[in-house]
Amino acid sequence: MKLCFATNNRHKLEEVQAAVGGEILITSLEEEGIHEELPETQNTLEGNARQKARYVFEHYKIACFADDTGLEVDALGGEPGVYSARFAGPQRDSQDNSRLLLKKLSGESNRAAQFRTIIWLALQEGDWSFEGQLRGQILTEGRGNGGFGYDPLFMPEKSTQTLAEMTMDEKNMISHRARAVAKLAEFLRKR
Ligand code: IMP
Repeated sequence: MKLCFATNNRHKLEEVQAAVGGEILITSLEEEGIHEELPETQNTLEGNARQKARYVFEHYKIACFADDTGLEVDALGGEPGVYSARFAGPQRDSQDNSRLLLKKLSGESNRAAQFRTIIWLALQEGDWSFEGQLRGQILTEGRGNGGFGYDPLFMPEKSTQTLAEMTMDEKNMISHRARAVAKLAEFLRKR
């Protein structure tokens, strides 16, 4: 079976291919000859993941899944959430985003937050979605050079390291994305 992942991010493609094993070939948008920008105009993670997957399924008639991830901070009512990539503006700059997050949380004692990933799967037989979460705390300053995005500021529950202080393998063992991917992989294996 062949299944398109609506992304061109090599790291994400490798992570999913490793999780689903050799029986399912995961293809990128590029490999499917899809070069247009996919619409992503909804105001929830679920909405965006669904919109991307359904767009590919309906326009190109291929089985497909898409993901969307956000950082949801309790004291900010779930912000930045679906706007995590462009929290500080359309330049989508990680450092600007992190600076704004620290500013909004300055003086705040409740630092609880979670990363949440939604994967939306669109097949001929119907649609399914899978969710992965990672709860933790937002530190008052960044630590570590690994990872990307908000990783230096995020300390997972039961951890003494931020996501940016972990190796990629350590992060992939516990991450929100890995948890959603594991659920997708289990679903596909059972079919
Ligand atoms: P995407 O849906 O995977 O593109 O993620 C949207 C945004 O959420 C990214 O641009 C990052 O700001 C943030 N983000 C997603 N996953 C992670 C992660 O694993 N660590 C840190 N930030 C992340």
